[in-house]
Amino acid sequence: MSATCTVCEQSSMGITCPRCGRPLCPAHACTSPPWCEACEEEYLARRGRLGLRWWFLVPFAAVWTFFLLNLGPLWRGEILNWGGKEFTGHPFSDVAALSLVAGILFGGFVAGLRTMIFRAWFSR
Ligand SMILES: [Zn+2]
Ligand SMILES: [Zn+2]
Repeated sequence: MSATCTVCEQSSMGITCPRCGRPLCPAHACTSPPWCEACEEEYLARRGRLGLRWWFLVPFAAVWTFFLLNLGPLWRGEILNWGGKEFTGHPFSDVAALSLVAGILFGGFVAGLRTMIFRAWFSR
């Protein structure tokens, strides 16, 4: 093996990046992330183009659209009856608070899932 590390030009001792196959020395061998610096740069650049903020905002907006569509009945307390155990004193503000939390969780879940799928696809 006469290949030299892509980063520091020392002998690679046969170690390569598992993703792109570039030679790396033991000091620059891939640990975390599981690919080399060049791959990491590519990963970050590609991830930047995914529009992850939309993968968060769209599910978040969907939860809120559902909430807003039910605004009237919610205000009159017709949809959810908490049996007198309101968090905030009114079903409307309870559901608004829950929609906020649910929107963040749901948006975070969808964006997280999108990132995971992208990462899995990228590391192949
Ligand atoms: Zn090196
Ligand atoms: Zn690589």
